[in-house]
Amino acid sequence: MRYDDSPPPPESAASVSPDPPWYARRSTLAVAVAALAPTALAGWVLTQVLTGSGPGGQPPQPKALPASHTAGAGAGDAKSSTTTPSPAAPASASTSASAPAAPAKGPLAGRTVVIDPGHNTGNFKHTSEIDRQVDIGTNRKECDTTGTTTNSGYMEAEFTLDVSRRTRTLLESKGAKVVFTHDADRPWGPCIDERARIGNEAKADAVVSVHADGVSAGNRGFHIILPATVKGGAADTSKIVGPSRDLGERIAGNFARSTGSVPANYLGSGTGLVVRDDLGGLNLSTRPKVFIECGNMRDAKDAAQLTSPEWRQKAAEGITNGIVGFLGG
Ligand code: ZN
Repeated sequence: MRYDDSPPPPESAASVSPDPPWYARRSTLAVAVAALAPTALAGWVLTQVLTGSGPGGQPPQPKALPASHTAGAGAGDAKSSTTTPSPAAPASASTSASAPAAPAKGPLAGRTVVIDPGHNTGNFKHTSEIDRQVDIGTNRKECDTTGTTTNSGYMEAEFTLDVSRRTRTLLESKGAKVVFTHDADRPWGPCIDERARIGNEAKADAVVSVHADGVSAGNRGFHIILPATVKGGAADTSKIVGPSRDLGERIAGNFARSTGSVPANYLGSGTGLVVRDDLGGLNLSTRPKVFIECGNMRDAKDAAQLTSPEWRQKAAEGITNGIVGFLGG
């Protein structure tokens, strides 16, 4: 959900890319790929056989991971990877402990990605805390918001956490270090300024804030929110506007391909991309960052997708593939 209930800002020149939209560029790429497909595919298959690791991007995408690679699996991995057995430990102990963490392998090895699950399921019970105003550089805004729900009560905050966890599992399988802004490990929040700070302090190579929208029925589809150029107080997005657009376009293309969803029909002029200057999480970021609104929880058809675990896995795959493409994996 957007961080306020005001209508989206009018489309400005800044919100429309002067470049061909992502889907047009992808179409060109698809034609080129199709022309090269026979040899490229053979080479790709050979690479798979020889190295056991794919390019992580297009063309041919590996199929969805097996069901065991679902929400939560990444948490244990992350914990175990930080465990370093003491060299003085007795042999009997070291045999039962997992081996020292090997250096991460994969196209995202050495990269840090911060995932920001929008809102918090506890925010509904902590309205006084989240209503507190925080400084977003250009303005002051509420610390956080409750987010929306489907008509049947599935909370946006549940959705964002689930998609984020699935995304983490996929990113970690590609070698990335993944940092969450929260993981159901705090009663509310964090505030939007802290969410931005977590990405900055992690020196993230990419940051994605996961959301779903809550507008009237009939409005459908996904959109990516890109940072506008803003400067004021602690906010200065001049260095991230360009790379964030690249990140956003790549996620948009991959998300559409992975989920079958179309760009939002109610804003962004059908591009699936919107530029905003009023979000603290973007204004205060010094790292490439976008928000993704995965669909409209208040539309029955979109809600049917958002409440489907299988669809959420596809959403996570689309987000992951966009990040991989952006980071050149
Ligand atoms: Zn939201």
